[in-house]
Amino acid sequence: MKYSSILNYLNSKKCKFCKNELMSKHTTFRIGGPADLFIEVPDVCTLQNLLVMMKKSDIPFFLLGNGSNLLINDDGYRGVILKLDGKFASVEVNGEFMKCGAGVNLSRICKTALENSLTGLEFAYGIPGSCGGAVVMNAGAYGGEMKDVIKTVEFVDQNGEINKISGKDCGFSYRNSLFSKNEYIITFVEFKLSLGSYEDIKSRMEDLIARRKFKQPLNFPSAGSFFKSPAGYHASALIEQCGLKGFRIGDAAVSSKHSGFIVNLGNATSEDIKKLQSEIISQIATKTGINLEPEVINLTDNPNS
Ligand SMILES: Cc1cc2nc3c(=O)[nH]c(=O)nc-3n(C[C@H](O)[C@H](O)[C@H](O)COP(=O)(O)OP(=O)(O)OC[C@H]3O[C@@H](n4cnc5c(N)ncnc54)[C@H](O)[C@@H]3O)c2cc1C
Repeated sequence: MKYSSILNYLNSKKCKFCKNELMSKHTTFRIGGPADLFIEVPDVCTLQNLLVMMKKSDIPFFLLGNGSNLLINDDGYRGVILKLDGKFASVEVNGEFMKCGAGVNLSRICKTALENSLTGLEFAYGIPGSCGGAVVMNAGAYGGEMKDVIKTVEFVDQNGEINKISGKDCGFSYRNSLFSKNEYIITFVEFKLSLGSYEDIKSRMEDLIARRKFKQPLNFPSAGSFFKSPAGYHASALIEQCGLKGFRIGDAAVSSKHSGFIVNLGNATSEDIKKLQSEIISQIATKTGINLEPEVINLTDNPNS
């Protein structure tokens, strides 16, 4: 009943949607119960109309990227999950600029940059996020961050209004941006790269992927580094120093390969992950006086309602 006007609209527009979609299919943790409604949004106009309808009916929603930095509870989500697809999966190259839909995988963007001998995005190769999610998180690795390469960001606010701002105005800081408050939906991102050598870019990308495979537990579902590194420390080193490498609750464990990662050993529940998170935070605080903060976003704490 609550969703009837949205369902009528989706049917009339022939949009793809599912009721009670299991979110474990859409998170790299492979955890998360059913969402009431999961919609693949094909274009800006549909997004604007849905936002207006959800606001009018007071329906909570959440914008899902690739689900690679996300913990969703086992009881799922009572609201609408939006995933950008269709026109949001575009990549256009114009000289040293690339305009990408927010739904495109970061790795595809990096490969397109390589094909055009454009340098600047090599650091992001292997980060399993979408373009939009990477901007929200100011994703970074190996000395690079999204903030270094973003010229403009287009987004839609909760009233359905379209806006465009420059990278300088995105409030980027360590794994954070003005988009982290979940008030806006990023639709398109323009990157400013530089012309470089195809061979150099390729070898840098191959080197970084090899380093990831060597250091990270990629054979288990995870959401990457679970905690932010406090200024002057590495979260993984603190966890290891406190004897928590391999520490396990249920099927959630601190990876024995990289102690910054919490991995799902098979059937971890969201409760397992949250208990492990609390235990790590508590033990690190007691033993070192340092407060760790999760980098991974818990959907329950961040709905757009
Ligand atoms: C194996 C592994 C390795 C990783 N390595 C790294 C790394 O090296 N560096 C790093 O920084 N991160 C890393 N991550 C974490 C993760 O990939 C990044 O944080 C990534 O940027 C998240 O993007 P996403 O599309 O998956 O976002 P999600 O996890 O789907 O969402 C994250 C947040 O962004 C919001 N969001 C997503 N898209 C949009 C949009 N279009 N508009 C508005 N809000 C949006 C969501 O609502 C949510 O609040 C890793 C993760 C894994 C699993």
